Amino acid sequence: MEEQYYCPDCGNKLEVLAGCGSVSYFCNTCKLIISRKRIMTEAQLTEKISKMVIEELK
Ligand SMILES: [Zn+2]
Repeated sequence: MEEQYYCPDCGNKLEVLAGCGSVSYFCNTCKLIISRKRIMTEAQLTEKISKMVIEELK
């Protein structure tokens, strides 16, 4: 199964746009192309969310 990537800004699933030998990741919520360096895997997203929750509890 192909790995799913998530937007670092809003956490929504990214659409994979493949073309001309390169792959782009597009967030339908932010209406932005997300650079490959910024995309998040499910594990990274989960980690980010749990950090945010801890911050809010402080
Ligand atoms: Zn987004």
